[in-house]
Amino acid sequence: MAHEDADVVKIRGFVTKCLESVGALVEFLGYDYAEVLIPDEFAEHFDGESYFGLSFDFDVARQHEDSEFVTYGSYFLDKVIDLASQRGLACKRHILDENVEGRTLPQKIRGKIAFRNCRATFLANVPIIYHYVLFNFKVSYISDEREDRIIKVLVSLNTGHVDDNMLEAIGSAIFTDSPHTRYTVEQMCSMDDAYRAATGALEERIQATIHELNGRIRLRLATERKRIMEYYDEIDNELKSKRERLLESERKDGIKSIDDKLHLSEIERQRRLNEIQEKNALKVSIMLFSATLVSHTKIRNRYKVKRGKVERDVYVVWNPALNDIDPLICEICGGETLEVELCSNSHLGCTKCVRACSVCGARLCKDCGMVECSVCGDPLCGQCKIVCETCGDVLCEKHVEFCTCKEEKRRKKQEAEQRRREKRLRGFQDIPLQLSESMKRYHDEYVERNMDKLDENWRESIVEAQATMEQGDNVKARAILRKLDQEYPKNAWVKANLVLSYQGWTQKVMSMAQQAVHLAPLMALAHMALGHAYKIHGLLWLWEAIESYEKAIELSGDDEATLTANAHFQIGKMLYDEGNRPEAGYRWRMALMADPDFVPAHQALSQLKPRRRLTTRTTKRRRRK
Ligand SMILES: [Zn+2]
Ligand SMILES: [Zn+2]
Ligand SMILES: [Zn+2]
Ligand SMILES: [Zn+2]
Ligand SMILES: [Zn+2]
Repeated sequence: MAHEDADVVKIRGFVTKCLESVGALVEFLGYDYAEVLIPDEFAEHFDGESYFGLSFDFDVARQHEDSEFVTYGSYFLDKVIDLASQRGLACKRHILDENVEGRTLPQKIRGKIAFRNCRATFLANVPIIYHYVLFNFKVSYISDEREDRIIKVLVSLNTGHVDDNMLEAIGSAIFTDSPHTRYTVEQMCSMDDAYRAATGALEERIQATIHELNGRIRLRLATERKRIMEYYDEIDNELKSKRERLLESERKDGIKSIDDKLHLSEIERQRRLNEIQEKNALKVSIMLFSATLVSHTKIRNRYKVKRGKVERDVYVVWNPALNDIDPLICEICGGETLEVELCSNSHLGCTKCVRACSVCGARLCKDCGMVECSVCGDPLCGQCKIVCETCGDVLCEKHVEFCTCKEEKRRKKQEAEQRRREKRLRGFQDIPLQLSESMKRYHDEYVERNMDKLDENWRESIVEAQATMEQGDNVKARAILRKLDQEYPKNAWVKANLVLSYQGWTQKVMSMAQQAVHLAPLMALAHMALGHAYKIHGLLWLWEAIESYEKAIELSGDDEATLTANAHFQIGKMLYDEGNRPEAGYRWRMALMADPDFVPAHQALSQLKPRRRLTTRTTKRRRRK
């Protein structure tokens, strides 16, 4: 016993103390042998067992075969160490600062806080003791490998806020055990609230690491996955080619066993994949292993803030460790702020919480009934807000009619209106007119532009005009078109067809043709109409007429063959009248090239033929001579 092992003494002392601290009964019944009864609430920690016989010496352990041998690395010592570390440590410390000269503080504080709508006057200052709790968390990130980190979070017990500036300052602070003063202690929030603030901040802080680790895990997983897939693919391929060979040699007996092997390989592959997935999944465990109560003497400066008749006191706290002030706490939202406003009911808040009513200008906080318009967000006081009768939302004067509940109704109405319009539009556009593609485009655009002016009457008249024109009833067609033109003077199709229905020239016909071209400069038919107007004007306008017909040919689309043929034909006819027979013939042949069924061109060409044959024969006869 004289040479008792120092380690045994240490272990025995530690285990006894620790167990007793959780309320266990430890009774030494012999040399280095004890019986322990563990309270029910801690039995869980020892795998549900509440009774143990403990031996602290190897020989003793051999004598008590049922006992737990407690030494380095043993089950029981590990469990006790684990228990001790979970129980944590708590201690108290006080930050020792150099003395602060209170008289110079108002000077230093000036400008650090903005009193937005009130004047602040310094009254007096006094040292007060403030408190923080420093929480030390052990965060373990466990996946295929394990990573432990210690994260410190400092929470002010007076404001309930996490204070990172102060945490940094504490790193180089000098501590004593207690303040050794009789200064007043500032009111504190509960430890539960502080702990909640700390865990909230901790959760945010570990997100970046979790994200980073998950990224690494994904990479590692992809590599392992690839390896597994390749391994089983190789096995499967071998089996499959064996199966193929058996099939070829028609030895069916071995196939069943190969199929079984393939099936097994698939199961094994899935098992391996699940296994690596599970092995790599990130688990995060957090343990609070110690906490320190830190006290600190700060200088509390009392100010009077005043705005009109409203006035009150406010404390600005000088923090000697930071050589700066602590932020003020908004009385309404509880947030930290360096910019405050005074509400008409003397609440002091941040600029988000105290606002001026957008109507009457009264400065009020949320606690005093300041609300926001649900549409534009403008602040409104209790007197100026308007409540929607339908849904109860708050609105400003400008948005009474625009409450979101009415917005929905309005939107539906607009949609219905749009649908009706589209249906009407389709109705007008679907008129069975035989139009070329480009004419159809013009027609559709015209309908869209003028839809509000069009009615069923328009629809019928335009169909009737086309039918009459096709029947060749020029007089009736002209009557309908003239009426249409009076009612709808901006329609180039009506104008052009009206021009084409006249055979005698007037100034009015001419100007209508020009208007048609002006209204639809890319419409071949409009240029046909202008050509026609020049043509019936007389031979003096021959070249103007030809130019317009040429323009019509240039603009006509592939599906306007008859129009192209007609333009060539008209040019040919005018040249023929001028005595230019070869050119006329050329034009008429062009007309037939565009539209082989264009009858007038056939007829005109047949007029030319006899003379041409005669000419040819004469020439031949002359040659013979
Ligand atoms: Zn606020
Ligand atoms: Zn108001
Ligand atoms: Zn208020
Ligand atoms: Zn509004
Ligand atoms: Zn509403």
